[in-house]
Amino acid sequence: MKKRVIIFSLVLFACLSGNIKAENPTKPIEKDTLKTELGNMVISFIGHATLLIEAGHKAVYIDPIAQNIDFKTLPKADIILITHEHNDHLSTSSIELIANPETKIIANKSAQGLIKNAQILLNGESKTFGDFKIEAVPAYNIVNVGGDGISYHPKGNGNGYVINFGGKRIYMAGDTEIIPEMANLKHIDIAFLPLGLPYLMTFQMFADAARRIMPDILYPYHFDNKNPRVLNDLLKDTPIKIRIKRMQ
Ligand code: ZN
Ligand code: ZN
Repeated sequence: MKKRVIIFSLVLFACLSGNIKAENPTKPIEKDTLKTELGNMVISFIGHATLLIEAGHKAVYIDPIAQNIDFKTLPKADIILITHEHNDHLSTSSIELIANPETKIIANKSAQGLIKNAQILLNGESKTFGDFKIEAVPAYNIVNVGGDGISYHPKGNGNGYVINFGGKRIYMAGDTEIIPEMANLKHIDIAFLPLGLPYLMTFQMFADAARRIMPDILYPYHFDNKNPRVLNDLLKDTPIKIRIKRMQ
């Protein structure tokens, strides 16, 4: 009998929490405002690996995925950057919600043919749109490979991006581990680094990558349940300012 009461309570609780969720499907998007030589830059932390940068009256999206957020409430995209073709980074239906015929779409090698009107940038290539210069940089795995020995993110396919605007350099690492090429990224003001296994970085790898890049401001992104506050301890002897925003 007691058992039945417990099961009933659990079911009731599950239903109630389900209702609460259904009535409240979206959380407000967290934002940060940063100063540049061309005015303010506002970063919206939309979720997982999806970011929106608004600066110079332009809207730049990185890996737009419309989950838990109504994209119709967001500005149309002037520029869309796709790091790689995995489905937590590339969704053509999400792109359609924010793109218009003038939107410039930049994507990586294997996204060729998957997105209408996309321009492909290989690692090392760059493109300028008005006040924005976009550099594509390597993003890949070295030690984190699947059981078949094939890399989750093979070298030469995915892109990280360095966005140059108003004298600032913003690095979006994409899906990558700590890689030697990070040492070539000079003068990064703001860095977004991904956290989590099996596809990305442990806390220690993340902290080592941060030391290699030495950004002024560092945002962890692409993390799920782990609490990234441990990073404050791992990097406490550096001047890096770690800012933790909700990315779920
Ligand atoms: Zn990926
Ligand atoms: Zn991913």
